[in-house]
Amino acid sequence: MIPEVNEQPIILELRCILGRLETALSAISDALVITDHQGLVLWCNRSFDRFIDQPRMRSLGHPILSLLPLDHQGDPVLAEAVLASISQIAGATTVLLQRQPLKACEIEWRPVETEVPAPVIFCIRDISTRISNQELQATAERIEQQRQHSDRLNRELQQQQLLLANLVRECPVTGLPNRRGLRERLDLALGRLRERGGQIGVLFCDLDHFKDVNDMHGHQVGDDLLIEISRRLQEALPAEATVSRLGGDEFVVLTGWIRDGSEAIAIARMLQQHIAAPWLLHGQRFEPTMSVGIMVTSDPSADGDELLRQADVAMYHAKRSATESLALHDASIEAHFRSSCRVHQELRLAILHQKLTLAYQPIVSLKGSPPDGSAIILGHEALVRLQPEQGLPIDSEMLIVEAERTGMVIELGSWVISEALSVLQHHPQRPDHWSLAINVSPLQLEQTGFAADLLERIEAMAINPGRLVLEITETKILQDSSRCIQELTSLRHNGVRVHLDDFGTGYSSLSRLARLPIDGIKIDRYFTAALGCDSRLECMIASMIHLGRDLGLEVVAEGIETDSQRLALQALGCLWGQGHLFGRPGALP
Ligand code: C2E
Ligand code: MG
Ligand code: MG
Repeated sequence: MIPEVNEQPIILELRCILGRLETALSAISDALVITDHQGLVLWCNRSFDRFIDQPRMRSLGHPILSLLPLDHQGDPVLAEAVLASISQIAGATTVLLQRQPLKACEIEWRPVETEVPAPVIFCIRDISTRISNQELQATAERIEQQRQHSDRLNRELQQQQLLLANLVRECPVTGLPNRRGLRERLDLALGRLRERGGQIGVLFCDLDHFKDVNDMHGHQVGDDLLIEISRRLQEALPAEATVSRLGGDEFVVLTGWIRDGSEAIAIARMLQQHIAAPWLLHGQRFEPTMSVGIMVTSDPSADGDELLRQADVAMYHAKRSATESLALHDASIEAHFRSSCRVHQELRLAILHQKLTLAYQPIVSLKGSPPDGSAIILGHEALVRLQPEQGLPIDSEMLIVEAERTGMVIELGSWVISEALSVLQHHPQRPDHWSLAINVSPLQLEQTGFAADLLERIEAMAINPGRLVLEITETKILQDSSRCIQELTSLRHNGVRVHLDDFGTGYSSLSRLARLPIDGIKIDRYFTAALGCDSRLECMIASMIHLGRDLGLEVVAEGIETDSQRLALQALGCLWGQGHLFGRPGALP
């Protein structure tokens, strides 16, 4: 049972965000449509209304095919066969429309892979202006003649369409081949593998922080930077390699023949160095960097789109890595990607259908705690659990990493808070010293009004704030945000307690520790596990306990599994403990 939440501010905030998003999407000239997997319109922007000349209320729920104008020959612009596969494969087509004056447009579609069945995003772009008026006019005249000499003209029209398609094989900003141009070259390269053997590499390059350049300096500077990057990439590569731009800040390099993966890595590193040279524009200095994902193949029957996807997956891996800015696609990267997709998908469904649960692990007093594990329980820590309908439970650490990466930790965390408050409200009879700890992500603390909202709810539910402990991971709080510190200070000021979780892993400087708004530290289980095996770490754990106590903090040792660890911690003066020795996470007793 999930208790009632004050949803009003969240709903208002969401409405504002949606309103801004709607205005922004309406302002762009491309027509955008989201359909379900069968092509029924779920949403469209104003440019689409203008494109089909009908208000959106009349479009919603209708098949996109019935709304799009016919092509110049009176046929549907998207064949039924294409529509049948839109939710699986992205694609693009260029068509001349049955309009006066004649218009050419490019239609792209791409499944939104985060949902099953996947909805599809369509982007319809009027490209008539990219083709000269003369060319359009010439086509129009030929169409006029077609009425009289249809057979002859049909052949000419086909040529005209080929020409048109050729015109949009290039990125208009950089002049490099676009996705379509790249796919053709990739197919040619695979064809050559069939004839001559060997290997080729696909290098998926994504500029870092390009959005910041656009946001801070405007799109013109952004475009200039893209042109410069494309120049630098071409300059650094041999003639047989192809550089293409897929859109946004994504470039793909198709190498010529290479010996193996290590040669592809060497090329990627060379490109990273080459583009990193400082670039000056309008007095601004930029040092561009990029993440690169690499896919190497010797298989002539490989699918070009699949190679691109694999290189893209490797690029994401590199982007998320703290240490490496390039990655060579392999089975482990693919497995990691798939499991992170699964976690993302399951988390989304669990939040939607309220399938998350909490497991409670006791935190006990180590002072005089008996060896049979029946120590005095000082409180419990609530740990989130996700058991999908099918398959293995999802590892909580991985779940939180994915939730933080996607921002879903805000919804997850808000649910955890509601559950915890409900437990506190319904267990007033627990001993005075008993408290309930929940883990809170810094992303939650960065939300406007986090502390004020929580305090308001605590007051409204008549809960003793001292019974609630917020655990914040040390590494995260050190990455700062003065906002986090402010929120924690306000919460502590009103009686809520704060513990620094996984202490010892985040390199807290001592001066910093003394100034953090916290009531306690939880020594990471990595140190507990070292008791009796590693004298240097033992020394460190002893210092942490003394330091914590000297600063007047509550010191909890995590991950106590054996009685000798319990005794060692007792001897070092640690007063609180948690671990399998005293109880695994489970139902609240
Ligand atoms: P944490 O807050 O440090 O939680 C302690 C973790 O250690 C839990 O893992 C717990 O099951 C495990 N543990 C406890 N005693 C022992 C022991 O004796 N031996 C060993 N080997 N492990 C022990 P769990 O449940 O997998 O959670 C992992 C992490 O995920 C948590 O670490 C916490 O940082 C995060 N987390 C869990 N629930 C939430 C949540 O609701 N919100 C947020 N933001 N993070 C959460
Ligand atoms: Mg914790
Ligand atoms: Mg911990």
